[in-house]
Amino acid sequence: MTIFTKIINKDLPANIVYEDELCLAFKDINPQAPVHVLLIPKKEIPSSQQIQKEDQNLMGHLMVKVPEIAKRLKLSSYRLVVNSGEDAGQTVFHIHIHILGGRKLAWPPG
Ligand code: AMP
Repeated sequence: MTIFTKIINKDLPANIVYEDELCLAFKDINPQAPVHVLLIPKKEIPSSQQIQKEDQNLMGHLMVKVPEIAKRLKLSSYRLVVNSGEDAGQTVFHIHIHILGGRKLAWPPG
């Protein structure tokens, strides 16, 4: 169980921008861009390495929600990031899609 489960269960406050029965999107507490939202499945999947065949519809659902949430956030351009594993910068082991935008983003990332 991670801090994100507490947010899902409303045991910890978060600035929620979208919620349905399968997923939750909320503002990152330490934003790296003017708009920085985390989109998570309610199912506890630690990281992309643990995505299984049975998660196909769930992960597809998250991707379908991305443009809807981006529109809600008034983002025309944005970057999706899924840090997977410690060396990739993952710090919370509940899979999450960062939605970053509101400024010009450099490439390649660090
Ligand atoms: P990652 O480093 O890819 O695992 O991303 C974890 C993200 O969760 C970081 O960007 C943190 O700022 C964010 N974060 C950690 N705790 C909270 C929280 N309580 N509410 C919102 N975002 C959080």
